Amino acid sequence: MEGSMKTGIMGGTFNPIHNGHLILANTAYETLGLDKVLFLPSGTSYMKKHVLATQKRVAMVRLAIARYPQFELSLVEAFRQGNSYTSDTLSYLTKKNPDTCYFFIMGADALFQIEKWKNPKQIFSLAKIVCAVRDDYNLAELKKKGQQLQGLGANIIYLDMPKIKISSTDIRTKVNERRSIADDVPVEVADYIQRERLYYEKD
Ligand code: ATP
Ligand code: MG
Repeated sequence: MEGSMKTGIMGGTFNPIHNGHLILANTAYETLGLDKVLFLPSGTSYMKKHVLATQKRVAMVRLAIARYPQFELSLVEAFRQGNSYTSDTLSYLTKKNPDTCYFFIMGADALFQIEKWKNPKQIFSLAKIVCAVRDDYNLAELKKKGQQLQGLGANIIYLDMPKIKISSTDIRTKVNERRSIADDVPVEVADYIQRERLYYEKD
């Protein structure tokens, strides 16, 4: 749509949020000329019982994005009862803001999972997919997967950015082993993790 708002959506568990998320969102923001990027922390689904309390994951997202005026926290999924599905979230957002063009931002691992999500065709009809390389997947593999998903109506934009070797899983392990996460998360998030003694014990 010409002249409409362009909003990025960065969904995640954010357990915890890290520099990989921030760089990915900002690369999408700059490359695609987005008006803003919404950070959508997930709620607690039945499938992920061991995830840290939503309140604390949300608090860390808030701390991490505070210095970026182009990033905004959205609690659309965080405190919803039961499981949250991206297709439902996008339906809700597009009904609320019919003039906004949504760009759903993700890493390669998510692109390889998306067919198993609820209503992938609906997701593809409501948002463009913005994808970056990650871990085991290079750009060629990503594009091959993307071509297959085009058959389901996906419109995919590939971000030209180097791999960022950061994951929440590694961060939780590092904290548990008393190693530094100073290179992985904003200082406000590292301080919060220490203050709240998150991830110190294996559960
Ligand atoms: P976990 O290790 O707990 O799965 P994570 O680091 O994968 O955590 P998520 O909250 O699961 O973080 O990811 C949210 C979104 O951000 C996903 O689409 C994921 O692919 C993407 N993402 C996370 N880290 C990176 C990264 N380093 N590079 C590119 N994309 C990333
Ligand atoms: Mg993940």
